[in-house]
Amino acid sequence: MTPAWVGLGANLGNANATLEAAMHDLAGLPRTVLRRRSSLYRTAPLDASGPDFINAVAALDTALDAQDLLAHLQTIEARHGRVRTYRNAPRTLDLDLLLFGGSVIATAELTVPHPRMAARAFVLAPLLEVSPDIVIPGMGPAASLLAGLGAQPIVRLGEPTS
Ligand code: ATP
Ligand code: CA
Ligand code: CA
Repeated sequence: MTPAWVGLGANLGNANATLEAAMHDLAGLPRTVLRRRSSLYRTAPLDASGPDFINAVAALDTALDAQDLLAHLQTIEARHGRVRTYRNAPRTLDLDLLLFGGSVIATAELTVPHPRMAARAFVLAPLLEVSPDIVIPGMGPAASLLAGLGAQPIVRLGEPTS
């Protein structure tokens, strides 16, 4: 089993409910265990338009390989009505593969660690909630990265409900 971290985001429709449902979907993936899940966090869009985003992070253990896991994430996105328009467009559900063990992956479909995660408080804050000591390969400890970011207003929306 490989530990893998998934970033969840939504800013259309009932984003809180979508993220709760997506956590349930992640827990149901084949050959995969949902180990920990963060609280939900609310942020104003960073490089995007539309309503505030709701974000969270899930920590999985999986026997899938990274490519298969990404394919499953995209299936879950599609099930929740994700329509791919343009990068950073408003969306019902976005699932990013943040980390896959200590792997560094660079293929046409998949870059791991997720290349923009180190600059995003809405990724690092929930990631640190589930894995306080995590070090991002090639980037450093998540806690140091978050401390080095400029102000990115982010509100933690209470304890997980499951
Ligand atoms: P960002 O990647 O900046 O968060 P985004 O999530 O809006 O932007 P998408 O439109 O969801 O970007 O994804 C575009 C493509 O990124 C996907 O088709 C996928 O193949 C590719 N991709 C590369 N690395 C990853 C990764 N680690 N997790 C998810 N998708 C990835
Ligand atoms: Ca994303
Ligand atoms: Ca994505």
